[in-house]
Amino acid sequence: MCIFCKIINNEMPSSKVYEDKNYLAFKDINPKAPIHILIIPKQHIEYLSDIDDSNKHIIGDMAIIANKLAKELGIDKSGYRILINNGEDAGQEVFHIHMHLLGGKKMKFSV
Ligand code: 5GP
Ligand code: ZN
Repeated sequence: MCIFCKIINNEMPSSKVYEDKNYLAFKDINPKAPIHILIIPKQHIEYLSDIDDSNKHIIGDMAIIANKLAKELGIDKSGYRILINNGEDAGQEVFHIHMHLLGGKKMKFSV
C-alpha cells in the first residue's frame, strides 16, 4: 500500500487539516513554504495522467478544497499556488495523485 493510502487508513500519522468522505488534506512533512498542504483523493490514483472524463471531477474537487483551506488559513488575499507533479521530470515522489497548496511567501519559481 502506498504511503498516502496508509495515511488515509490511519496506519501512518499526519497533521490533517481537512477530511470528508472522498478527500483528505494534511500538512506536507517537508514544507517548501510557510503553508504547504497536500490534498488527496481517498481513491488510489497514481498520476495526473490517469485523469480522464470519468474522474475529472477529482481535480475540481481538490481545487475547491484548496480554495476553502486558503481562505481558512488567511492566504486567499495574499495569493497561493496549487501544483500537481506528474512523473519523473516533474519530480513526483509519491505515486498517489496529490495537489500541493503553497502559500505564505512570495514564490521564487514562476513559469
Ligand atoms: P511530489 O514530489 O510527489 O509531488 O510530492 C510529494 C510530497 O509528499 C513531498 O512534498 C513530500 O515532502 C511529501 N511527503 C512524502 N512523504 C510524506 C509523509 O509521510 N507525510 C507527509 N505529511 N508528507 C509526505
Ligand atoms: Zn495510495
